[in-house]
Amino acid sequence: MQLKRRSFFKLAAVGAATAISTPRSALAWQSKAPADAFGCLMDISRCIGCRKCEQACNAVNELPLPVRPFDDLSVFDEKRRPDATKFTVVNRYHSGRVDDDKGLPVADFVKIQCMHCQDPACVSACITGAMSKKSNGAVHYDADKCIGCRYCMVACPFEIPAYEYHNPLTPKVMKCTLCETLLSEQNKPPACATICPTEAITFGKRSTLLKLAKKRLHDNPGRYVDHVYGEKEVGGTSWLYLSNVPFAKLGFLKLPLKPLPRLPETLQHSLFSYLWSPALLFTLLGGVMYRNHKQQTLQHPEQPGDVS
Ligand code: SF4
Ligand code: SF4
Ligand code: SF4
Repeated sequence: MQLKRRSFFKLAAVGAATAISTPRSALAWQSKAPADAFGCLMDISRCIGCRKCEQACNAVNELPLPVRPFDDLSVFDEKRRPDATKFTVVNRYHSGRVDDDKGLPVADFVKIQCMHCQDPACVSACITGAMSKKSNGAVHYDADKCIGCRYCMVACPFEIPAYEYHNPLTPKVMKCTLCETLLSEQNKPPACATICPTEAITFGKRSTLLKLAKKRLHDNPGRYVDHVYGEKEVGGTSWLYLSNVPFAKLGFLKLPLKPLPRLPETLQHSLFSYLWSPALLFTLLGGVMYRNHKQQTLQHPEQPGDVS
């Protein structure tokens, strides 16, 4: 998204003035996180980089087959991102760990996908309701409601949603579905969790996964970094991570602990209370999300606690 710096500050000033002159009731923000949704715990120390999760995801979501097959490990030579044709990717990192016996560098592997945030910024940014947080934990996309504004893409702190630019007639926003259909129709876990040969991915209720993560931390002193990534980041996510390597060395972003939707939603409520025009609302929300995006990139100083 292109937004000139001066234009952004003008928009921010308008937003601030609106917020100041708005009744307190219109500024109230409440979490919409489901009480005890499902999620996945990814234990990075167990991942061997086999890419079977990528393959299972590709099959269950009927995505196009990749140019390089799933057993081609040369893909690890570059860092990849999920896109419109792949909802999850595994990346390889070298954090400096060395195998004691062989004296060789040890690789670590990190699977990334939509985090299915508890209070998702993409949902707040979507004024048509095409993105929604379901009670089962999945952040669901409804193509029939999507107008293609792509604000969800700008708002996402993990830069996950992708757009089908190659599909000019019926383009959709694409991202991990948490295999919602498998869960709701067949009571089955996500395909990636089922296929994983090392049980690096555990599916379950988020509260149970948090307990499991903390038990592993407690029972294995020295094995893990003392941090469950996703427990609190951006208000919490449905995908949680344990790691034996500092998260900062594995490409994890240092993010605020408070949910990011607060500001955009507060402004939406304020603007609607004064019946501002949808066109201006679009522009202003774009400015807010651009600012959020820049803040994350610059690693805002208010962020409590480093990613360890
Ligand atoms: S990771 Fe991004 S796309 Fe996924 S739920 Fe969170 S904000 Fe939305
Ligand atoms: S939960 Fe389903 S859609 Fe998401 S990464 Fe796993 S297999 Fe893919
Ligand atoms: S299937 Fe499991 S072990 Fe293999 S790359 Fe995926 S998460 Fe890692």
